[in-house]
Amino acid sequence: MREKLLEIENQAVVELTGVGSEVDLQQIKARFLGRKGEITTIMKGMGQLTAEERPLVGALANQVKERLELLFADRLEALRAELQERQLKSERIDFTLPGRSQRSGHKHPITLVTEEIVAIFAAMGFGVAEGPEVEKDFYNFEALNIPKDHPARDMQDTFYIDDDIVLRTHTSPVQVRTMLGQQPPVRVIAPGTVYRRDSDLTHSPMFHQVEGFLVDRQVTFGDLKGVLTTFINEFFGKELGVRFRPSFFPFTEPSAEVDIQCVICGGGGCRVCKQSGWLEILGSGMIDPEVFKSVGYDPEVYSGFAFGMGIERIAMLRYGVNDLRLFYENDLRFLRQF
Ligand SMILES: [Zn+2]
Repeated sequence: MREKLLEIENQAVVELTGVGSEVDLQQIKARFLGRKGEITTIMKGMGQLTAEERPLVGALANQVKERLELLFADRLEALRAELQERQLKSERIDFTLPGRSQRSGHKHPITLVTEEIVAIFAAMGFGVAEGPEVEKDFYNFEALNIPKDHPARDMQDTFYIDDDIVLRTHTSPVQVRTMLGQQPPVRVIAPGTVYRRDSDLTHSPMFHQVEGFLVDRQVTFGDLKGVLTTFINEFFGKELGVRFRPSFFPFTEPSAEVDIQCVICGGGGCRVCKQSGWLEILGSGMIDPEVFKSVGYDPEVYSGFAFGMGIERIAMLRYGVNDLRLFYENDLRFLRQF
C-alpha cells in the first residue's frame, strides 16, 4: 500500500508538471485528492491492514496528501500568473501604430451658404430676423399685396393648413412682422425654410430662402443696386457681370430680377446657363407703397427695397451641384465633399 501511495504521488507530480490550464489542473486534483480520488480510496481501504501497519500507512497517506495539496496550490498560482502575463502581452498598446482617425461631423452645405450670405449682409449693417414657418394668411399674402384671387395663392403652390393658416411660401412674412414691430430705419436679413407644392430637379417642396429689406428716408433703386452688387461680388469672390431685368412681384414696384454672368462658363454660354451666359439668382424691387400702408409706414416719408433668393440655387452654383435633391438625401459621400 505504501508503494501504491508513492506511485500515486509520482504519477500526480508528472501530470501536474505538464498541465497547461486551470481547468485541467482542477480535474487532476479531483482525480487524486477528491472524495472519490485515488488517495481517498486507499485511505478507505486501510481497514484491511494490520494494527501495526495502519498508523504508518495512515501517516504516509496524510503526508502524500499534504505534499500534493501544496503542489496543486503552487501550480495553480503559477498557471494564473502565466495567464495574466499572456493577457498583458496580447493587450499591450503599440504606440508606433498609426492612429485611427475619427471623422468629425460638419455643417450641411445649405447651412454653410446661409451663414456666408448672412455674414456678408451683416457686414453691411443688416440685422438677422426670423419668423414662424406656419404662418397666417395675412403675413404670408394679404399684407404683401397678394389679394385673395392672386395666382400665387393657387393650391398648386401653397400648402394650406386651413383657410387662414399656411406653410409660409416665402420668407417675406418676416418683413411684414418686422415692420409691424419697428419704425424705420430698418435693415434686416431673414433666412429660413419655406414650402411650396413643387418637386423636380431644381425644386423641392421644402427649401430655403433669404429675404432682405431696407427701409429709410430717401432710399433709391441705386441703393438696391449697390447693396446687391456688393453682395454678389463678395459672395462669388470676383467682379461678375450683373444685370437687373425688369420684372413683376406683387410686393415691389418697380421690380427687378437680378442675373449674374454665368459662373460656370464665364458668360460664353453653357448647359447650366442655357447658352445665355447669364444666371438668374434673385428677385428684388422697391417695396410697394401698398405694403407700407398695411404695416403703418407712411409711403410719403419712407421708401425701401427688398430682395429674396433661394439658398439652394445659390449653393448649386457655388458648388457646381446639378440636382437640388442631393441636398436632402443625406448621402454622406455627397455631404463629405463640403
Ligand atoms: Zn454658362
